[in-house]
Amino acid sequence: MKVIGKTAELQKVIRELDMHPAGFVPTMGALHEGHLSLVRNAVNNCPLTIVSIYVNPTQFNDKNDLKKYPRTLETDLGLLKDVLRENDLVFTPDDREIYPEPDTRIFHFGNLDKVMEAAQRPGHFNGVAQVVSRLFDIVMPDIAYFGIKDFQQVAVIKELVKQKKYNIRIIGNPIIREKDGLAMSSRNTLLEKSIRKKAPVIFRTITSAANMSDSKDIPELKNFIKSEIEKEEEFKLEYFEVVDELELKPISSSKEKIKGMKYYGCIAVKAGKIRLIDNIEFPLV
Ligand code: AMP
Repeated sequence: MKVIGKTAELQKVIRELDMHPAGFVPTMGALHEGHLSLVRNAVNNCPLTIVSIYVNPTQFNDKNDLKKYPRTLETDLGLLKDVLRENDLVFTPDDREIYPEPDTRIFHFGNLDKVMEAAQRPGHFNGVAQVVSRLFDIVMPDIAYFGIKDFQQVAVIKELVKQKKYNIRIIGNPIIREKDGLAMSSRNTLLEKSIRKKAPVIFRTITSAANMSDSKDIPELKNFIKSEIEKEEEFKLEYFEVVDELELKPISSSKEKIKGMKYYGCIAVKAGKIRLIDNIEFPLV
């Protein structure tokens, strides 16, 4: 693999290689098996894979979160070396490469921009759209791989592709979990030991709720989830919503479900000082 920090050089190498489909995996580094599953998927399906590692400041609505975000470039490159091939590329730009000028673009994503993560993290998806569109413009991939761990993000990216008429296929990859069920996340390393130990409560609880969704309706399940999560000291439920997979409109009763449409239970929890998100198909299939 080749590690490239400069946009112009990356574009030159991609142009010269001219290998298609070119698969792209954007990340913010601090790589774990979740990221690597995306990279493996790209490698298995694309003769050229490009992975980017860039902590994008414009998507952090909380500046302290940006400061604390783990940065482990050397370890990341070591992990990628085992998965990527000789021709594959790792793009490690700095802020000047991505934002030579401040990005003042404002995106509109309708409902996707209002619910769940968008409501809790104002400006977050605008920053995500800024960086992803910039990276798409630079890399010009044929296929881009994202994790459905960030369920709402995948929907936002698909909408971005539609709005900007990118000729890029978006693939959503399944959530990779720790052995105890906790969804892998770069932020897991920031959890205090005692909190990390209790964190599997999140997936355990949404799994139970999904299993009960035949006999109990959504308000009752929301109460169940809140009480189970908040039984753990320092765990606070931010939201739990059942949404359709396309527009992410929250429903308040399973009677509102549209036949043939998939639904997901999406959760955000403040575990100590760290926000964790997860989701599960609802009901379980
Ligand atoms: P991040 O570095 O957090 O921006 O994540 C980069 C990509 O990896 C995003 O598309 C995430 O959705 C995906 N990702 C993060 N964690 C997981 C996971 N546990 N399983 C699958 N994909 C993941």
